[in-house]
Amino acid sequence: MPYCDHNATAPLRPEAREAVERALSLTGNPSSVHAGGRAARAMAEAAREAVARLAGAKSESVIFTSGATEANALALWGVVEAAMDAGKPIARIMVSAIEHKSVLKTAEAIAERVAGIRLEMVPVTVNGVLDVEALTILLHGEGRALVAVMAANNETGVVQPVTEISRLCRASGALLLVDAVTAAGKMPLDAGLCDYMSLSGHKLGAPQGVGALIVGGPLVPQLVGGGQQKGLRAGTENLSGIAGFGAAAKAALSNDEERTRLATLRDSFEHTLKVTLPEAVILGANAPRLCNTSNIVLPGLAAENMVIALDLDGVMVSSGSSCSSGKIAASHVLAAMGKGDLSSIRVSFGWNSSQDDADAVVASLVKLWQRARPRAAA
Ligand code: PLP
Repeated sequence: MPYCDHNATAPLRPEAREAVERALSLTGNPSSVHAGGRAARAMAEAAREAVARLAGAKSESVIFTSGATEANALALWGVVEAAMDAGKPIARIMVSAIEHKSVLKTAEAIAERVAGIRLEMVPVTVNGVLDVEALTILLHGEGRALVAVMAANNETGVVQPVTEISRLCRASGALLLVDAVTAAGKMPLDAGLCDYMSLSGHKLGAPQGVGALIVGGPLVPQLVGGGQQKGLRAGTENLSGIAGFGAAAKAALSNDEERTRLATLRDSFEHTLKVTLPEAVILGANAPRLCNTSNIVLPGLAAENMVIALDLDGVMVSSGSSCSSGKIAASHVLAAMGKGDLSSIRVSFGWNSSQDDADAVVASLVKLWQRARPRAAA
């Protein structure tokens, strides 16, 4: 069955499956002193090293979490509390309007619950790129800022100007969190450009339920207890998930050919789509994009109907934005790009995507357009 929804979750990589199985056959708590504990700890540390390499970070800075939702919450709440403790409170949280809900909702919750902190939204251009001029102006405002941006957007694949954002934040003394979930493994990352970076294993071919925060600044833990992971995230480590994450990170990083192959596959997919269905519009196509993502509008067709029609043909894609209830919500990313009236689907390829998968998407969309166009145009 053609699976073209890698930005939602990627199929488990064989290397990750093998690492998970090895971890599950071990008995030992990574905190235990005995041989079993030492073997578990060695496995977790090898994974930490691999994840650090993927992020362009030092392994000591990697804190494993249950995923990127937790990593983003840990970063945002942890920084706000650390700044308060240090007597230099955060006055403004600035988030780009296209952030993942795990960032947007957490930032909203902090602004609602913590007196003296306000939320400032950074707009994006029609191409979905953070508006650097708007950020520059906001950063000139009063009060210490914590900025959260993504390295690349999960709906459009549009790559954000993190180097420039980092320079602006450094110059104004703002702290910077980068959500690198979608970008990881699809482009080089440099955690040195930011203070905190979030990652998620399952977008790379690791199991679901494991992620990491790269910590490069003060942070107050949000889970306390046994003092694991230098006291920054208590709880016995999810060793099998962590081992799978390490293996997936290693495979994603060591495979330059994978990125070249994906870029060729995605570009030829878009070319074929445009030739056979000239009405199709690819959003974000004028901006730098990740090698694996296409966000497609067929004018007049609702995302929900497109996703369902493709699903009936056995082709799995997402709407630009999906929510956990399984219903398709309007995309806040398209709205931020000034395209809130449009409805789009996201086709995202990954490590095991093939030409047949791409061809199946085109064939199914052409079939749907032939059937639904008269009604769409009416
Ligand atoms: N950030 C982005 C950009 C995402 O796409 C996702 C998941 O869809 C998350 C964060 C949350 O990741 P997780 O599923 O690991 O909690």
